[in-house]
Amino acid sequence: MIKVHGLRKKFKDLIVLDGIDIEVKQGETVAIIGPSGSGKSTLLRCLNLLEKPDEGHIQIGDIMLNAKKYSRKEANELRRQTAMVFQHYNLFKNKTALQNIIEPLLVSKKMKYDEAKKVGEALIEQVGLAHKADNYPITLSGGQQQRIGIARALAVQSHAILLDEPTSSLDPELVGEVLQVIKQIAEKQTTMIIVTHEMDFAREVADKVIFMADGHIVEQGTPTAVLDHPQNPRTKRFLQQSI
Ligand code: ATP
Ligand code: MG
Repeated sequence: MIKVHGLRKKFKDLIVLDGIDIEVKQGETVAIIGPSGSGKSTLLRCLNLLEKPDEGHIQIGDIMLNAKKYSRKEANELRRQTAMVFQHYNLFKNKTALQNIIEPLLVSKKMKYDEAKKVGEALIEQVGLAHKADNYPITLSGGQQQRIGIARALAVQSHAILLDEPTSSLDPELVGEVLQVIKQIAEKQTTMIIVTHEMDFAREVADKVIFMADGHIVEQGTPTAVLDHPQNPRTKRFLQQSI
């Protein structure tokens, strides 16, 4: 479960998040759509404190944090609640696919190697890449690298997964395989927020769609409500342009 209340963030004079309220129930998938520069990435980055929010309350699972005043301990606890998947896969080049997946288990969770390897092998199987376990990232396609990135995010078993345009740096023919993996994860009742430009995917997989513009949530609701019957003129305009 994720609850965000009154989240605000400025970069100097630029207001990027202007009072964001969000609720994602346990096991729900929420898709965030919106024009470039509307604050989608900043929102995700504030949820795991990669970016420091100015104001607001963030609750993820049992951990609650007041953006105005928190300790390092609280920050670390909140960070552990989420795993992030980025547009660029951010894999370690000098580690194999399997090593990339189990790295956070060895380093953050201090798991024994054999135990971590077992978890990693199950996950690499889940993303359909068991046969590439010993490959280095440079020998994998973009879609395969992103599937390893997703397996790595799953490895830590965090409360929720945050995905920021996980397919937008992929060649079009590789997008489907990555969306398929994300869909499977969503079906396992993983709590997820995904920023995406893939409207068909959002329609199919999301429980709720949020349309953001200029640091505000302009409209939110079921995929049908927001994508097929948008009420706000800005949402309508954005969707017409995205076809
Ligand atoms: P896109 O769809 O292009 O990824 P976005 O909705 O993810 O866009 P953000 O990356 O959150 O948008 O950026 C929101 C605004 O904040 C933009 O105007 C951007 O230029 C600004 N911004 C983002 N990061 C910083 C930063 N570190 N310093 C200053 N301004 C920033
Ligand atoms: Mg972005």
